[in-house]
Amino acid sequence: MKNLLFFVVLIVAPYLALAQQDIRIEFANSITEKDLYDYLSILASDSLQGRETATPGQQMAASFVENHFRNVGLEPLVDTPDGKSYYQHFDLIKINPSVGYIVVDKDTLKNLRDFLYTGQETFEQPVSSKPIFLEYNKKKGFDEADIKGKDVIICCAGNRTERNARKAVLTERGAKNIIIIMDEKVIPFEKTINHYKRYMSHGRLTFPERVKISKGYFLVSPATGARMLGISRAEMEKMMEKYRTGKRYTIKKKSVKEISFFVSADIDTVRTGNVLAVVEGSDKKDEYIFVTAHYDHLGTRDGNIYNGADDNGSGTAAIMEIAQAFALAKKAGHGPRRSVVFMAMTGEEKGLLGSSYYVRHPVVPLANTVADLNIDMVGRIDPQHKDSADYIYLIGSDKLSMQLHNISERCNAKYTQLVLDYTYNDEKDPNRFYYRSDHYNFAKNDIPVIFYFNGTHDDYHRYTDTIDKIDFPLFRKRTLLVFFTAWELANMKDRIVVDITKEATGSE
Ligand SMILES: [Zn+2]
Repeated sequence: MKNLLFFVVLIVAPYLALAQQDIRIEFANSITEKDLYDYLSILASDSLQGRETATPGQQMAASFVENHFRNVGLEPLVDTPDGKSYYQHFDLIKINPSVGYIVVDKDTLKNLRDFLYTGQETFEQPVSSKPIFLEYNKKKGFDEADIKGKDVIICCAGNRTERNARKAVLTERGAKNIIIIMDEKVIPFEKTINHYKRYMSHGRLTFPERVKISKGYFLVSPATGARMLGISRAEMEKMMEKYRTGKRYTIKKKSVKEISFFVSADIDTVRTGNVLAVVEGSDKKDEYIFVTAHYDHLGTRDGNIYNGADDNGSGTAAIMEIAQAFALAKKAGHGPRRSVVFMAMTGEEKGLLGSSYYVRHPVVPLANTVADLNIDMVGRIDPQHKDSADYIYLIGSDKLSMQLHNISERCNAKYTQLVLDYTYNDEKDPNRFYYRSDHYNFAKNDIPVIFYFNGTHDDYHRYTDTIDKIDFPLFRKRTLLVFFTAWELANMKDRIVVDITKEATGSE
């Protein structure tokens, strides 16, 4: 009997498969290289200026995605006073480099050129003072002078950790403004300035509730420090050498000069947002499968446009195309049982801001959010796979739900046959990719995730990440894997469960 049944299944199964054509194949066929190319050619075009968060280029990308969602028949999901919207707006604070100067010997030194001010404070008026020079030695630390409410200048500190430690001690003792002379043996002053300039050049974006208006310190070069202290460069060098070896060194306090200085913070409120749309489910419509990708990128730098074709024009185009496939299926009477939400997220490159905002302001309950399939860079081949078969890195699939991992594997085996590379799924991997894209904000809320990723390459975060380097057949195949996995998650009988605790996996 057993053998006979086996025989029957073996003979009949292929015919069954033919007879009841797997309906999902029909809608998978709507996912084409041409569509992906068409979307990407807009997302990664120069006119979008690198889609930097809170810039007109990012707004244009958002409108493009929103119009697509509307045109293919997806529903808006965000409640606003004017009804449902596709756009989840929110404000960010943009901290630009402070404006400021120091006048020494009638020379006006400028912030981020001749010195560096690290805080966001704004002085009511310019300060004129003769700072107190505090001596330092390794054993006793700073000398005991009363510095409460006074301006202080110290020599010397190298890296940021050391500088911050010195600042903390002096602040604790009541110092008002702090000037730190840089130890250039540790890091050249010029290098520090350039690093800061690059970091701050586009402003730093953060949430209003996370803005800290902190008092900074003034960092100056040994040359400027010597001028302020009224000593020669040679004496400055001698002092630094002594301090490095932990010895004492005294200068004539009288020589310290009277200086004047001023700083003013430059802080704006800017708007940005996520773009969301839903294909509503049928009998399980209150459960949600998320398919996400960030659509922002790095903007322009030094006159170059960072088109971000792979990062993450590819993921954005992919969710647009998968959304269309689900919409077509629904129109044809094959809509998903669970609701499928497509979300293009902003601010990823600025610190996963869009996803962080979303999980704190979800438009559907997180508890009913079954899984997040997050796509970030799926159009390229990394050097490690130059000669290998079609592949994709999967990250996170087995961290919270073994069921999700198994479904993903099965969908791939049945439909896409990609080589699934789990190298970066290892929590000990030094790249820590699991923590580096938007899915992580979902995982932190116990929502099982899969992060789809092609790995990095020479054009990663460079202006050379352009559309001509995208491998469209492979890009399509990877998009199909996400589609089939989402289809399965949306249509299976019981929702997948979280069956692995964070403690067990040791994740953060
Ligand atoms: Zn990215």
